[in-house]
Amino acid sequence: MELQERMFGELTDKTLFEQAKAYAFAYMDQVPEMRVFPSKTSLEAMNIFDEALPVEPVAAKTVLQQLHEYGGPGTIAQTAGRYFGFVNGGAVPVSLGAKWLADVWDQCGGLYLTSPVNAKLESVCERWLKDIFDLPKQTVAGFVSGTSMANLCGIAAARFHLLQNLGWDVNEMGLNGAPPLRILAHDQVHASVKKTLTMLGYGNKNIEWLPSDAEGRLVLEKMPPLDSSCLVLLQAGNANTGSFDHFDAICQKAEEVGAWVHIDGAFGLWAAASKSLSYLTKGMQKASSWAVDGHKTLNTPYDSGIILCRYPDALISALQATGEYILYSNQRDPLLYTTELSKRSRAIELWATMKYLGTSGIDTMVTNFHHRALQLAEGLAENGFKIINEVVFNQVLVGTESDDTTKSIIGRIQESGECWVGGSVWQQKTVIRVSVCSWATTEKDIERTIAAFVKAKKEVALETKNGKTF
Ligand SMILES: *Cc1c(COP(=O)(O)O)cnc(C)c1O
Repeated sequence: MELQERMFGELTDKTLFEQAKAYAFAYMDQVPEMRVFPSKTSLEAMNIFDEALPVEPVAAKTVLQQLHEYGGPGTIAQTAGRYFGFVNGGAVPVSLGAKWLADVWDQCGGLYLTSPVNAKLESVCERWLKDIFDLPKQTVAGFVSGTSMANLCGIAAARFHLLQNLGWDVNEMGLNGAPPLRILAHDQVHASVKKTLTMLGYGNKNIEWLPSDAEGRLVLEKMPPLDSSCLVLLQAGNANTGSFDHFDAICQKAEEVGAWVHIDGAFGLWAAASKSLSYLTKGMQKASSWAVDGHKTLNTPYDSGIILCRYPDALISALQATGEYILYSNQRDPLLYTTELSKRSRAIELWATMKYLGTSGIDTMVTNFHHRALQLAEGLAENGFKIINEVVFNQVLVGTESDDTTKSIIGRIQESGECWVGGSVWQQKTVIRVSVCSWATTEKDIERTIAAFVKAKKEVALETKNGKTF
């Protein structure tokens, strides 16, 4: 058993872990000033990974060295302050430390019996999250890979619950012949919600599509009367504008008739944790289920999403495909609230992040995203850019005089490596989409970002004048 001995040797001698630590530390030191998106050279250099699977074992040292030399330069600078793509978030240092430790523990998080520590920390996180968001006390939490999965779990629970109330057990009878549900969503619903509906047996044509306003919020006046067959899909934080639906009025109506409101709050639900921004989520506590990410606004490492559901029986029944309240032990069994059995013990770094920050630290961090977004919007407006959205939270949509110019500017900025922003289409116009959601973004980072925008704009103007296109 030469290979086995070698592996025992790695554990005893620890060189491999010292080497990983040295590489990790070198990366941490470089990341604030490295290119935010890899250079062409670094991207091409990754072709070294295109090799046949080796037949003979390779030295651990060689494996890690290759990752460091060719993998590291192929990363985006996610953990530094000038990555504004999608809605990604950074990673609070203690969360990386906790994840690192938890990786060594390598716990299978599905059952109490396979990881008592994960089960314990899930219970604690569940309680803390309910406190932060001020949710009803019977609410339970499932710890999943992200909001896509949290949306799936929440909407599956809604389907189970609503059909049960209409006298139909979907676990026994399936969807063939089931009473129809009325699914109400506005046209700004996230792609992950649409995908989920399809996976759960509801097509595009089964949805009552409702209009949204200029900021992407459901138009209240266009909301039809609700009944007990209704699933209403709302959003805390539009992925473009960062806007919030009017939860208070809609949740109140839904509660009165027994309809289910699911809120996709991937990044926006955390506004509730900021004293100055919590007005945005007013009334959301009256919904039935909430999907939220740890890995975006809270800045835990990937991957970390949470489904919160006020009807534990519905969530468990939907995800376990049984009407019975199964118990695997007399402790918390994490798998009850998710679709998986084996899963990462992601509550460990979620717990570490929340404990480290405390409610005041979370408030400070989330509020800072808003302030930095305002700083950016102001600075860009002063330099002739158009700010398309109301910057209510952390998202800034930026436009110029034409779609072509905007596209060219996006290309220039991305190529500069100084920061990274993505493009999007908002109300038929090409826009630059900026998401401020890393704890590491400072005022200085925003100044540098504004400078990068201005430089790109000048370059594009010059090229256009010279008759070239980018
Ligand atoms: C990011 C996002 C999602 C999907 O979440 P993942 O964690 O990427 O699965 C869903 N809805 C909204 C509004 C989002 O911003």
